[in-house]
Amino acid sequence: MEADVLVIGSGPAGSAAALTLARAGLDVVLADQHVFPRDKACGDALIPDALRALEALGLRQRVLARALSIATVRIYAPDRSFVEFDGEAACLPRRVFDDLLRQAAMEAGVRFLPRLRALRPLEGRAGVAGARFRRLSDACSLDVGARVTLLATGAATEPLVRFGLAERRSSSGVAVRAYLHAGSGPSPRRLCLAFERTIPGGYGWLFPGPDGLYNVGVGLFCGIGNAIDHNLRLLWRQFLDTFPPARALADAALRIEPLRGAPLRCGFIGARLGRPGLLAVGEAAGLTYPLSGEGIGKALESGLLAAECVIEALRRGETLSRLVERYTQTARSRFSRRFAGYRAGQRLLAFPTLMNLLARRAREGRFVKRQLEAIFAETAYPESLFSVPGLLRALMT
Ligand SMILES: Cc1cc2nc3c(=O)[nH]c(=O)nc-3n(C[C@H](O)[C@H](O)[C@H](O)COP(=O)(O)OP(=O)(O)OC[C@H]3O[C@@H](n4cnc5c(N)ncnc54)[C@H](O)[C@@H]3O)c2cc1C
Repeated sequence: MEADVLVIGSGPAGSAAALTLARAGLDVVLADQHVFPRDKACGDALIPDALRALEALGLRQRVLARALSIATVRIYAPDRSFVEFDGEAACLPRRVFDDLLRQAAMEAGVRFLPRLRALRPLEGRAGVAGARFRRLSDACSLDVGARVTLLATGAATEPLVRFGLAERRSSSGVAVRAYLHAGSGPSPRRLCLAFERTIPGGYGWLFPGPDGLYNVGVGLFCGIGNAIDHNLRLLWRQFLDTFPPARALADAALRIEPLRGAPLRCGFIGARLGRPGLLAVGEAAGLTYPLSGEGIGKALESGLLAAECVIEALRRGETLSRLVERYTQTARSRFSRRFAGYRAGQRLLAFPTLMNLLARRAREGRFVKRQLEAIFAETAYPESLFSVPGLLRALMT
């Protein structure tokens, strides 16, 4: 089988790229190991960068029609005091969201092939020229040849190793979540994040969704007091039992679904962005935020960016080496600064007393709350707060 572009992985990054490429008139094959709709362990929060990317894809209204709109964000400090600020977002289970994107890609002409697991790249003279898959239906192999291949396989290390892009095998963190079905009353339109003392190096969350569904999870980042050694399942249970808003929700829940988890690849770390004929997008490229673990927005943005670079390269007849160079440079200049700021913010997780102090300053003064609002909306860089000058200003004004 042949295509202009092969996209491996039909999460937000892969579907956004495939959709954009097909709209430009290219012949696109989108392959995934799963049959859709499929679940994906996630908090399901579409924060402002995701909403903006959906707007650019022309899908914002279609997604919002199915999602629960969010108006505020509440962050609990380790001492359980909290800060609340305005923040526009939306929550939609990934089972629905990813399928909606995939369907939009198919409507644009993308050929979607489910139950195909990518095994290895096909090597051509100028670089990667497609991929070999195992068909999960009959265990036979299938080759898909393409002028350009996009790897959108998420946080899994194995495909990165097989396709020669892995720089590090270990992930940046890990997170688990379960759905709680609450009674019928209206859900608060608020994202709730709790930096609990019982979750060192991470946080717990309560995100409301449509139809009385709540997404309750716990995530941990590596390198903060070896936090990753903790048993996440136990931490999640403890969060549910001891964090009062989670406890109230669990007590009233009609049903709790089984816990699901996945690794996180954050801050551009762990993978190259490509090699001739092959570009990595989304979490495969390490494009999830440190500190918050949010990555849907940057997955969509990088999918769009990679597609635009491919369209331009094929139009101009650019070499595959030049394409990977341009994509890498543009992605790094567009995303690096925010990732560096969030990495700095993640270091605060090791200092609960400082976090308590920041929460107090957020309640007493205007600076911290204003910065949190602007960082969330991406109208300010995270370094405006998560830096020595930012912290000094926060503590003194
Ligand atoms: C518990 C948890 C909570 C999170 N909460 C949030 C949140 O609330 N908001 C947010 O923005 N981000 C959140 N994230 C991060 C977010 O899930 C990721 O950043 C996002 O899914 C990345 O999208 P992607 O398209 O790059 O990869 P994925 O969404 O992981 O999609 C990858 C696709 O590739 C397919 N695939 C993988 N390997 C192969 C293979 N070998 N062959 C064929 N197909 C393959 C998979 O089946 C999958 O469909 C959370 C992550 C976790 C683990």
